[in-house]
Amino acid sequence: MCISAASRFTAECGCIGYSMKSSYIMIYSTLNATEAYIVKFLFENNGIEAIVDNDKINFFFGIVSAKDAMIEVWVPGNKYKEAAKLLLEKSAIDLSKYEQIGCPRCGEKNCGLFDYCWKCLANLKSGEAYKLDQTILKEGNKKSEKRPLSLYILIILIALLIAGYIAFFYFKPF
Ligand SMILES: [Zn+2]
Repeated sequence: MCISAASRFTAECGCIGYSMKSSYIMIYSTLNATEAYIVKFLFENNGIEAIVDNDKINFFFGIVSAKDAMIEVWVPGNKYKEAAKLLLEKSAIDLSKYEQIGCPRCGEKNCGLFDYCWKCLANLKSGEAYKLDQTILKEGNKKSEKRPLSLYILIILIALLIAGYIAFFYFKPF
């Protein structure tokens, strides 16, 4: 049902070895599924493997918070710079609406959409140098905090049951 990013990437890249499966970075997040897939195709057309994650939960946007409903595009860490550059250069998506932010580590201007500097891979919020294990750990924690999709389905089912129960007694034929 709700497969966490980490386990899905492990399943998909298990044959390539540890360094590969743990090296993905989220490059783009949006509430618009079409936009996420445009970004994915842009990367794939340029030889960068990309994975769209969290696209199933978007259906529940309105029930879950906007933050949890975000659809994420992930690329391999070693392709991040290339992907970020590509996104800025060739994107069909209007990135001008996003603020330019300076990298706290190297000073390079970055699109406000990015979490990591495209030049030095530092974290744009904390200025921390990019460390693979840390990133994965943080993402792992973030994922585990999320309530699973099954919980929302359960809530909907309970609501339907209650509605059915009320309807049954209201329209009692006898
Ligand atoms: Zn930088």
